[in-house]
Amino acid sequence: MSRDRVRILALLRGGGRFLLTSHVNPDGDSIASQCALRLILARLGSRADVVNSHPVPRVYRFLPGSETFSSRRPRSWKPYRAVIVLDCGDARRASGLLDPRPPLPVVNIDHHATNPGFGDLNWVVPDACSTAEIVHGLSLGLGVRPDGPIAEALYTGILTDTGSFRHGNATPRAFRIASDLVATGIAPSRIAEAVYESVPYETLRALGETLAGLRRTPDGLISWMSLPHRVLASLASQAESEEWAGYPRSLDSAVLSVCFKETAPGQVRLSFRSKGAVDVAALAGSWGGGGHRNAAGATVAGPLAAVEREVIAAARRHLASAGRPRAGVRGKRQPAPPPAATRER
Ligand code: 5GP
Ligand code: MN
Repeated sequence: MSRDRVRILALLRGGGRFLLTSHVNPDGDSIASQCALRLILARLGSRADVVNSHPVPRVYRFLPGSETFSSRRPRSWKPYRAVIVLDCGDARRASGLLDPRPPLPVVNIDHHATNPGFGDLNWVVPDACSTAEIVHGLSLGLGVRPDGPIAEALYTGILTDTGSFRHGNATPRAFRIASDLVATGIAPSRIAEAVYESVPYETLRALGETLAGLRRTPDGLISWMSLPHRVLASLASQAESEEWAGYPRSLDSAVLSVCFKETAPGQVRLSFRSKGAVDVAALAGSWGGGGHRNAAGATVAGPLAAVEREVIAAARRHLASAGRPRAGVRGKRQPAPPPAATRER
C-alpha cells in the first residue's frame, strides 16, 4: 500500500472531528461516499461534518445521515483534523471549501483519471468504478464491516456511477463488491426504487416535454435535446434533471449526444455522452470542460440556440476528424471497440 494510503488510514483511525466535502452539483456517488465515510468514522468514535456547495438532490435523501449535510461553510477550521474531499477530480470543481485552501491537511479520495492529486494526501484509483468502491476498501482497511446503512450508501454509489451496471466501469470488482454488500442483508430493490422510481409528477412531465424536442443529425450519429431555463426553473431543483443526459444517447443510431441545459439566462451547461471509442472528454475540452471518454461536461456563455448550433457543428467536425464511418439513420452502426477503459463519472 502506498505511503499516502497508510497515512490516510492512520489519520482516520486517530479519532477527532473531520470535515467531508465533494464536487459542485453532487451526484449519487459523491453523496453516497460522504454518507458512508461519515458512518464509518462514527463507528470508530469519530465525528464528521459534511458540507457541500449544493443541497442533497431529492433522490438521495433516503440515504442515512444525508439530512445532516449542510451548505454552510464552517465558521472555524479549529475543530477539524482534516478536510476530506470525495469524488472530486479537480480542486476547481470542489465545493467552495478549498478556495482559499484551508489551514488543514486536505485528503483527496477519488477515481477520476484526470485527478492531478491536489490533496496533501491522495488516494486516487482511476480504475475504481466509483469513489464508493474506494471507500469500501478504506472501510475494510479500518476494520469496519461495511454493513447496514454503510452498505446501503456504498451500494448506491456503485449503482449510480456504473449507470446500474451498464457502463464500462461495471468491472468484475464492482459486481463482487455489490454482491458482498447485498449479502450483508440490504435490499437492492428498495434502493433502485428510491433512486429510479420516485420521480415527482411535474418532473416526469418536464422530461416528456424535453424528450419531445429530441433532435438528430441527418445521419443519426449525433442526438441532442435542450432544457431552456423555463423548463429547468419549473423543476423542484436543477438536480432533478441530473440523469437526463443519458436519454439522447439511448437513440439506436447515436454515437455522440449532448444535453443542453440553460442553467441561467445566457449560460448553458453541456452534458456530453458517447458510445465506444468516441471521446467526448476531448470535445468538452474545447470549452474548458472535461471528464471521461464517454461522459463529459462544460459550461458555455451565450444564448441557447447559438450554443446549440456551435456545439453540434463542433461535434460533427469531431466525429469526422475521428474518422467515424458514416451510417444512415436506418443503417447499422459499426461495432464499437470494447469499452475497457470507459468510465462514466
Ligand atoms: P455531467 O454531464 O453528468 O454533468 O458530467 C459528466 C462528467 O463530466 C462528470 O462526472 C465530470 O467528471 C465531468 N465534467 C462535467 N462538467 C465538467 C467541467 O466543467 N469540467 C471538468 N473538468 N469535468 C466536467
Ligand atoms: Mn464518482
